[in-house]
Amino acid sequence: MKNIILLGATGSIGESCLNVIRQNKKEFNLLGIGLGSNLDKAHKIAQEFEPEHIFIGEPDLDNSHQLFRRYPRILNSENELQQLIQDSNVDIVVSAISGFAGLKASYFAIDAGKTILVANKESIVAAGDILIPLAEAKNSKIIPVDSEHNAIHQCLPSYRNLDEIAKIIITASGGPFKDKTFKELAEVSLQDALKHPTWSMGTKITIDSATLVNKCLELIEAHHLFQIPESKIEIVLHPQSIIHSMVTFIDGSTMAQMSNPNMEVPIANALGLGRRLPINFEPIHFSGLNFSFEPIPEGRGVIFEIAREVCNQGGNLGVIFNAANEVAVESFINKDINFADIYRVIERTFNSFPCSKLNNLDDVFEYDKQARIQAEKVIKSIS
Ligand code: NDP
Ligand code: MG
Repeated sequence: MKNIILLGATGSIGESCLNVIRQNKKEFNLLGIGLGSNLDKAHKIAQEFEPEHIFIGEPDLDNSHQLFRRYPRILNSENELQQLIQDSNVDIVVSAISGFAGLKASYFAIDAGKTILVANKESIVAAGDILIPLAEAKNSKIIPVDSEHNAIHQCLPSYRNLDEIAKIIITASGGPFKDKTFKELAEVSLQDALKHPTWSMGTKITIDSATLVNKCLELIEAHHLFQIPESKIEIVLHPQSIIHSMVTFIDGSTMAQMSNPNMEVPIANALGLGRRLPINFEPIHFSGLNFSFEPIPEGRGVIFEIAREVCNQGGNLGVIFNAANEVAVESFINKDINFADIYRVIERTFNSFPCSKLNNLDDVFEYDKQARIQAEKVIKSIS
C-alpha cells in the first residue's frame, strides 16, 4: 500500500487522480490532500478518503467550516506542508496545484527525495534549472503526468539512453482557435476560449491551450524532464487528441502512445510506478477513425520562438515567460485585455529582461516578482 499526498486535490487533475485511486483502493492510502480554498469540496473528499492531513494553501478561511471541526490536522503553513512531505511514511507526492503557486510543493517533494508525479508544469518551466539537478542529487524520481510527457515517458525504454532519441514529437489539439487567423484572435471571447474541443481541464490551462502557450510550456517542460535540446523537439497539431506524443529513435522507429483524451490514463500510468493499474476507460474505436496532423497555425510562431529561446538560454527566462503568461491570462479572464494581447504581454515582458543564471529558489521567486510587475506595466500601456 502506497501513501499518497495529493496536492491540488480539489482541481481537475485532483479529481482524475481520486478516480484512479478509487478504482485501486487496495493499492493506495490517501495520507494527505492539499487545496487552495475550496473547503466544501475538500470536506467531501475528506469524508470519502479520510486523509490524516489537509493542507489549505490560501488563508482568510472561516473557522466555523465543518472541515475544521471534523479534521483537526489542518496544515496552513508552508513549513507544516514541508514537514508532512518529508515524513518517511510518504511514498508519492502528486504536484497538481495550478500555476506558479505549485512550485513550493514540487520543490519540497524533490528536496525530500520523494517520488513526485508532476502535473504542475509551471514549476518545471520556471525552476527546471534548479529542480532537475536537485532531483538527481536527492534521488527523487520525477514522473510526468502531463499527457504528452507521460506519453513520451511511456515511449522511452526504461534504460533511457537519450543518445538513441532522434526526435520527440509533441502533439497539440490546437485548441478552439486553431483555424482562426491571428487578426481574428483579438475578437474572441472568454467563453469561446474556455470551450476546449477535446479536454476538460481547469481554467488557466484551458486558456493556455487556446493561446497554444500551453504547448510552449510543454516544450520547455519536455526539454527539462528529458534533458533534450529543443532542436530535437517538434510540435505538431493533432486535432483528435488520441496520439499524445511520439518518440523517433535513431534507427528510424517511431513509438506513439494513444488513448482517448482522459487524464486518468496518464495518471494511472504514473501511479502504477512501472506496473499497469486497471481503470475503466473508453477504448479507441479505430475502425473509421481518421488521424490528421497540421503545422502550428499562422501568427503563433513568435511565441514558440520565445519558448525555444527559453530552452536554449535557460536561467531566469523560464520564470519570466511563465510569470508574464500567468499575469496576461488573469488579465484576459478579468477582461482587462483581449485574447491577442496575451501574446503582446508575454513578448514585451520577455524582451525586457536579459538572461541571468538562477542560483537558488529565492532567485526564482525574485524574478517571478519582477516579471509580474513588468507584465502589469505592459498591460497598463496597452489597455
Ligand atoms: P484546477 O484549477 O482545476 O485546480 C487547481 C488546484 O490547485 C485546486 O485544487 C486548487 O484548490 C489548488 N490551488 C490553487 N492555488 C493554490 C494554493 N495557493 N495552494 C494550494 N492549492 C492551490 O487546475 P488543473 O487541475 O486543471 O491543473 C493543475 C495543474 O496540472 C496545472 O499546473 C496544469 O497545468 C496541470 N495540468 C492539468 C491538466 C488537466 O487536464 N487539467 C493536464 C496537464 C497538466 P481550490 O480548488 O481550493 O482553489
Ligand atoms: Mg498536456
